[in-house]
Amino acid sequence: MKLRTLKDLAVNGKRVLMRVDFNVPLSDGKVSDDSRIRATLPTIKHLLENGATLILMSHLGRPKGAEDKYRLEPAAKRLAELLGKEVRYQKAQGPATSKTAIFVEQAPAGSITVIENLRFDSRETKNDLGLARELAAYADVYVNDAFGAAHRAHASTEGVAHLLPSAAGLLLEREVTVLSKLLQNPEKPFKVILGGAKVSDKIGVIENLLGKVDEILIGGAMAYTFFKAQGGEVGKSLVEEDKLELAHDLLERAQATNTLIRLPIDSVCAQQIAAGVETRVYPSDAIPENWLGLDAGPEAVVSYQATLKNAKTILWNGPLGVFEQPPFDRGTKAIAETVAALDGFTVVGGGDSVAAVNAAEVADKIDHISTGGGASLEFLEGKTLPGIAALLD
Ligand code: ADP
Ligand code: MG
Repeated sequence: MKLRTLKDLAVNGKRVLMRVDFNVPLSDGKVSDDSRIRATLPTIKHLLENGATLILMSHLGRPKGAEDKYRLEPAAKRLAELLGKEVRYQKAQGPATSKTAIFVEQAPAGSITVIENLRFDSRETKNDLGLARELAAYADVYVNDAFGAAHRAHASTEGVAHLLPSAAGLLLEREVTVLSKLLQNPEKPFKVILGGAKVSDKIGVIENLLGKVDEILIGGAMAYTFFKAQGGEVGKSLVEEDKLELAHDLLERAQATNTLIRLPIDSVCAQQIAAGVETRVYPSDAIPENWLGLDAGPEAVVSYQATLKNAKTILWNGPLGVFEQPPFDRGTKAIAETVAALDGFTVVGGGDSVAAVNAAEVADKIDHISTGGGASLEFLEGKTLPGIAALLD
């Protein structure tokens, strides 16, 4: 199976319908973080340079019908600023109204048009064929560059891909190339840092990586479910009681494979999540009753740093502590800096982990930052993402 890419698609003089991920955070009617828009600029520029006329579509948020605060206007404006070029946009009640069809029809050769939020139309998330046909009618070919939405079988990601000659954009292509390499032929040792709040979010990834990676370094609240599963005392730390058995089972299964699961030996603890509270370091399996584990402790951080040094491939998903609330951001920050300084090939995925990398100002030292949270997790679970499957030969 081969992913169709821009090399396989003739675009000169053609109208290109392109699915992008402009699901960006807004504040005061402006884009407050434009990284997703920037991430797709190479594809947009490539297509324009090759003679395409672009019709861009995206979802933004979870609107109920045409809600003003979810319009794509701010994203279109930001794109125009980044490109230094006019971007056509017209307010509409949806992406496929008769007004939109006329507006798209009038697009001059070589122009860029952003149509209205796909989710203003309830047919989008139902992967409705009627909507897919209306979208397809706007263009000659289809390009998908929205990795962040590729795990959804929606009209704009899946349905429309079957109706026009279609291919992945440069961003989607790179995500697939990098993440496939991690699963298929990573350079060893391959070490994975998995953190975040819930084991349940990451079970699928752990299961799929057992036997494929050399080490999994666990961090975040997830660790306490593993400690408790082995009979440890974790105080009031966040534990998923219904996942204890599974956690126990995963530790046993890891022993039968060549994958070592490491847990954080100590934790920075407090009695509540707030600024300026008293903090104490306890062994992660001996946390007193009223205390919560909120960050990887100093010994855990040092041991993780030591084992990461010789890794040739490193994947990081999920913060090691409650990084939104200092001082519990220290472990995550230390790991962000460590990962950034490693010689091996480094990949970071997950909304909060990427935010942590940005907060530590080391994003430019990471080899690949995945633009998809849910999508990258599903990919790493070994699932076939519908938006990608539709572009395979
Ligand atoms: P990502 O978005 O990178 O995939 P997750 O969404 O899985 O990461 O997890 C991030 C969340 O986990 C953060 O909100 C963080 O506060 C929380 N978290 C991490 N460690 C702990 C902990 N020890 N206790 C409670 N919450 C934690
Ligand atoms: Mg998250």
